[in-house]
Amino acid sequence: MRKRVFGSIFLTALITLLLTASLLLIAVHTGLAHDMRSRLANECSYIAAAIQDNDWQELGRIGRIYADRITLVGSDGAVLYDNESDVSGMENHATRPEIAQALQNGVGESSRLSDTLSEQTYYYALRLGNGMVLRVASTADSALGALSTASPWIMVIVLLALLVAALLASWLTHVFLEPIVSLDLHAPLKNDAYDELSPLLHRMDKQNHKIESQLNELKRRQAEFDDITARMDEGLVLFSAQGDILFANRAVCALFPEDSAEGGYMTLCRDPEYIRVVEDALSGESAHGRMEKDGRVYSLTASSVAEDGQGHAAVLFVVDVTERDQAERQRQEFTANVSHELKTPLTSIMGYAEIMENGIVRPEDIAPFAGKIRTEARRLLTLIEDIIRLSQLDEGGDPTPFEPVELNALCGTVRDRLQHKAVEHKITLGVTGEPVTVSGQRRTLEQMIFNLADNAIAYNKPNGSVLLETGTQDGAPFVRVSDNGIGIAPADQQRVFERFYRVDKSHSKMTGGTGLGLSIVKHGAALHGAEIEMQSALGEGTTITLHFPRKTEE
Ligand code: ADP
Repeated sequence: MRKRVFGSIFLTALITLLLTASLLLIAVHTGLAHDMRSRLANECSYIAAAIQDNDWQELGRIGRIYADRITLVGSDGAVLYDNESDVSGMENHATRPEIAQALQNGVGESSRLSDTLSEQTYYYALRLGNGMVLRVASTADSALGALSTASPWIMVIVLLALLVAALLASWLTHVFLEPIVSLDLHAPLKNDAYDELSPLLHRMDKQNHKIESQLNELKRRQAEFDDITARMDEGLVLFSAQGDILFANRAVCALFPEDSAEGGYMTLCRDPEYIRVVEDALSGESAHGRMEKDGRVYSLTASSVAEDGQGHAAVLFVVDVTERDQAERQRQEFTANVSHELKTPLTSIMGYAEIMENGIVRPEDIAPFAGKIRTEARRLLTLIEDIIRLSQLDEGGDPTPFEPVELNALCGTVRDRLQHKAVEHKITLGVTGEPVTVSGQRRTLEQMIFNLADNAIAYNKPNGSVLLETGTQDGAPFVRVSDNGIGIAPADQQRVFERFYRVDKSHSKMTGGTGLGLSIVKHGAALHGAEIEMQSALGEGTTITLHFPRKTEE
């Protein structure tokens, strides 16, 4: 730019200089030619007046004095006198333009360049009263001649002028460009530039403010988007039409910690389902799929986003559906189990009833048969009650409000209800510990302690003992049911809380168990925010403790 500005200024100066010089030369030369012509005309008139009356001697005298050439031509064009040449060798001048004009009009003039073009001769001719023509001629440098004569000087002047023009151009370039080059574009109005730049700087300042506010808005939106996507439990990935990962939220990075969330879509995951779903979306079709990773199940939903002429970008949602799947599986298992569990006692009842109906039962066997029907019916009833209770707890459908419940007294109630069964099984049942109050549903808490104590009696050994204990541990209330019965193997300790899971099915049925007792305890504990601790050893006994949350100060 600097070179171009310098070049333009310098070139302009150069052209101006050359044009001015040329015009000056032409003007001077034209002026000189004009002067020359008027001088020759005057001289011609004077000489003509002097040689009046054919005073030829006077002509010879004047011709010697005058520096200019004087020629006298007869009316026929023959040269009669010339002060510079011998007239005898001179050709007829009748056809010379100035002579021809003078013979015809009285006066004539012309100019002719020398062979080298360096000189120009001016002629002025006047017809005398006797018909002859007097011609005065003077030679001067032609324009070209003048130019070549003056050329060394002209060269010096031109060079000087060029030097001045170069200096001037350089200075002007600096003056023009320096304020522009040193502009502080971040704070345009703080620049001390010349006035002509002011509108530009104001415009720039306005643009800067606009860009800044747009940038801030963009940053705010980006932060908002980041914030929202970072809080999402679902994984979100955006792919460009070329399949590059444009964005992956925190959930995705947590899902695929060992993979990179940058680069092509393959860098994120190599699962064939994932690749299929993403490729489908990139080719313009929304797709769904599932994949397993580290023992968890993920649902994949990819949507296609058409981009103008560039193919399809894609948005992928990754949702962890492990729990949902598990719940669905459990629900299906539960339904199957419930049907089976309900069918068993009903089949027995039907069998006994049919035998009695057919009259093949002896009268003395009717009572035991009726007793068996009653036992099976009771089993059925207990089962149905447990199922209803469990589904109530499971769905949070028990609206009973929480109240302060003293656990030691509740243990006493449970002991009273189970005393008879304990005696039957030859089990000592006791209650110990300090009174502790928790906030909860009395009925549910009683059922939880009842189920634990009932199991402790049912899975005990003759002459065994069961102890219900309450108290606080680190300020948190607890209730503990311990027995010295058959115990639970380590492999079964977690599973016994599953619905219908029994370590020994026949034993459970013999004791009238439904397989739902500990599930109800688990759900009841969750409802009260209590944690279950189990310690058990085969042949030694089991201790199950419910740790309730610490009471918050009211
Ligand atoms: P059930 O109705 O069969 O007792 P539960 O859910 O109450 O069902 O218990 C599940 C299984 O856990 C029982 O079948 C039993 O095998 C085992 N169990 C529960 N409590 C004890 C205990 N105190 N000692 C030994 N085994 C137990």
